[in-house]
Amino acid sequence: MRRLAILVLAAFVATPADAQTRELLRAVGPDGAEVWWSNHGGLLVRGWPAAPGGSVVLGRGSYPRFDALGRLWFERARDDGHHLTARELFVLESGAAAPRSPRPGELPPDRDPPAPPAADGGLPRICVDPGHGGSDPGALGFGYEEADLVLDIALKLEQLLVDDTLDPAGGGAWDVLLTRTDDSTVSLQERVDLANAWPADRFVSIHANGFASPAANGTETYCFQEGTTAANLRDRVHEEMLAAWSLADRGTKTAGFFVLVNTTMPASLSETGFVTSPIDVQKLSDPAERQAMALAHLFGIQRHFGIAPYAPAGSAPDGTLQGILYDAALGSGAPIAGGTVALADGTFATTSATGFFAFPLDSGTYAFAATAPGFVAGSAQETVTTGVIWESLGIVAGAVPALTVDPLPAAGAPMTLAVDGDPGTPALAFFSSVPGLPLLDLGGPGVVWPSATGLGFAPLGAVPGSGTLAVTFAAPTAPGLRLQLQALVVDGGAARLSNGAAFEVR
Ligand SMILES: [Zn+2]
Repeated sequence: MRRLAILVLAAFVATPADAQTRELLRAVGPDGAEVWWSNHGGLLVRGWPAAPGGSVVLGRGSYPRFDALGRLWFERARDDGHHLTARELFVLESGAAAPRSPRPGELPPDRDPPAPPAADGGLPRICVDPGHGGSDPGALGFGYEEADLVLDIALKLEQLLVDDTLDPAGGGAWDVLLTRTDDSTVSLQERVDLANAWPADRFVSIHANGFASPAANGTETYCFQEGTTAANLRDRVHEEMLAAWSLADRGTKTAGFFVLVNTTMPASLSETGFVTSPIDVQKLSDPAERQAMALAHLFGIQRHFGIAPYAPAGSAPDGTLQGILYDAALGSGAPIAGGTVALADGTFATTSATGFFAFPLDSGTYAFAATAPGFVAGSAQETVTTGVIWESLGIVAGAVPALTVDPLPAAGAPMTLAVDGDPGTPALAFFSSVPGLPLLDLGGPGVVWPSATGLGFAPLGAVPGSGTLAVTFAAPTAPGLRLQLQALVVDGGAARLSNGAAFEVR
């Protein structure tokens, strides 16, 4: 059967006003209309030929898909915060301002199968899910709403995951996304859609319990099935929550909660404590205790990934520089996955499947440079103040000589750099590891990519007859040291810069 709609994964930057929004799950209709689902605002239709202004904001909805007549179908699921209770179909005619219910005999097209997870080799993607929100406050007790308390824990966890990523002294490095960042209504289906579309590597849902009797108290943690990776995640998070708050241990459990069953990655659900318990609410209502609970979740995630528990240096930066690395010839809708974006201090990020990169930074002006295999390196400059500053960067495709480096060098262990060039010609490596020097402009196309200081040069030798020069050397004996590399080779008779490589010594 011909697919009538194409689901793709994409992050799309519209304006700074919705800078915190990630738009995922795009479906394309036969007439060129597009529908997006975002973690802010739900479904948005663009390019709708007959609609006023060409766009329609639909709000909440899931499984958007177009039929052969160009009509958009979607569903709205209702839930009680843990289980789905109803699902309703809607159809939007081309150009109509509002959706309607299907008429008798009208049948929706099939739901597209979920997109397969992207194998981009980037950072582990942690989807943090603050339970409830908006029209669903969750459990209520002592004047507190579960939705508010768990949102605060989730926001603190997000900051800790970012801090852990920035802190080279220990811990891990993560990409993090929240299913909601404010008191908005997000259905369970939409939470699952977001995690599956990203796709997340782990899903960590955070709740607080409630019960009619104030005697019910304690911490419990759920996954769907025992003996799974999810159960390991659940157990580590549970142990750390108990250590943090010392509430009653209600144990590790399994449950068919919607987000646990329908996420395509290992998922856990924390019931941190009872908002209805006079004991537990003392923890839940205290911002310092919520910070401790967020840290417990970080420790649990770290241990689940085989990393010793590590509290990152709590330097909350002023703002975040983020953007999309894209193919300049095709525009920001053509993201470059697996590219490397680096700052002058050697900090670097590998772009996600959606081309996304982010650097939490203190206020100041930053030069940053980007490289990707098959693209000429490029650079940009942006001033960071508070909040999120978007600066997407387009780089130009070109027949760039290929350079590869062992992506995970261990301190002192052998690692191999390989670069292509004309046989019999010399190759030169640029490398940098120490903050300070500006970008070096050779005056030709592209920039020398190593953007950190202490820019050095090393002759690599002559390219052999195979056309690929491989040089094996010992990685620096400094765990945490960040290095950037690029090569200048003779390629097709002309001196050309290769793509760059960045890595952190383990
Ligand atoms: Zn809940």
